[in-house]
Amino acid sequence: MDPVLQLLRDLVAIDSVNPSLVPGASGEAVIAERIAVALRAAGLDVQVTGGATGRPNVVGVLEGRAPGRALMLCGHMDTVGVEEMTAPFDPVERDGRLYGRGAQDMKGGLAAMIDAAARLAADGGLETGRLIVAAVADEEHASLGADALVMEHSADGAVVTEPTDLAVAIGHKGFEWVEVETRGRAAHGSRPAEGRDAILYMGRVLARLEAIGAGLMARPGHPLLGTASLHASTIGGGRELSVYPDRCCLRFERRTLTGESPDVALTEVQTALVELGREDPEFEASVRQLFSRPAYEIPDDQPVCRALAQVLRRGGRDATATGMSFWTDAAILAQAGTPAVLFGPRGAGLHGREEFVEIESVLTCRDVLADLARDFC
Ligand SMILES: [Zn+2]
Repeated sequence: MDPVLQLLRDLVAIDSVNPSLVPGASGEAVIAERIAVALRAAGLDVQVTGGATGRPNVVGVLEGRAPGRALMLCGHMDTVGVEEMTAPFDPVERDGRLYGRGAQDMKGGLAAMIDAAARLAADGGLETGRLIVAAVADEEHASLGADALVMEHSADGAVVTEPTDLAVAIGHKGFEWVEVETRGRAAHGSRPAEGRDAILYMGRVLARLEAIGAGLMARPGHPLLGTASLHASTIGGGRELSVYPDRCCLRFERRTLTGESPDVALTEVQTALVELGREDPEFEASVRQLFSRPAYEIPDDQPVCRALAQVLRRGGRDATATGMSFWTDAAILAQAGTPAVLFGPRGAGLHGREEFVEIESVLTCRDVLADLARDFC
């Protein structure tokens, strides 16, 4: 069995569900240890940091024999939850695919980058420069891992090995999380003159959000990223059947494009709430931003983009630059001064019931990354 496939199977078999998404979930401690073992066995200089918090990062460094450029390969170890999956941590191979939670997002990419480093090290190492292999925590929630990584490590270029179907992705959308609370007045259900219905108030807010969302989708799209969008994520309110609800709380997410401000959704909703207040003086609501991460785009003439495109074309592969819909740690690396491009295996079902990665694409990804390190460093 190709060593990258054995590693991938091992990584999928380890539960690394993000505990910030699913309270009580395993987190990254065990998978970090497995990755540290793999990187050490390959001969890299390995550090595990942040272990005390239970949310470690693993960084392995392969030094070249002379100074040169540094390339970082970066991937996240955490996955989303496994509700509704029958055997999430049982890596099953079928029709050239490997199934399991995280197979596509992004243990396929992790295995490819770790094995690329192992292969380079086994083939005599790097002439010049250095290769940094970084496996980070918490990308699926708040990117604690990438935030910590960039405090200690930087490079002349980075590849984030999120699943791009072996395409070169030079950008991705951002996102903003917003919470809206409507306030009513609790009263006996038989007394409409006294009660104010916070849930029906939220209905008005939802109607506005739907209109805002439709407006976003009707705008001309960004050439790489398409259109912005929003969706209602969670909602709660009400106490019992015969009581007017005194509050209702909605959380929603808006996906953002480059050029949009980091609080664009907050501003859009604030405007809507002011209008709703004008229409009905009894209407009462407040809004706050919970979290925001920017959209990202890197010029395709950056050295790391050019080098990756060159490796792909040399192998007769498509190197057309594209964009991804999902957010990634590339934005954090780039903000900290390490230009990052996305390139990873092909698969489907990320965050879904049935997730898989195409094994052949993991092998290809590994080979491309190893060639890139030789060229770039
Ligand atoms: Zn991911």
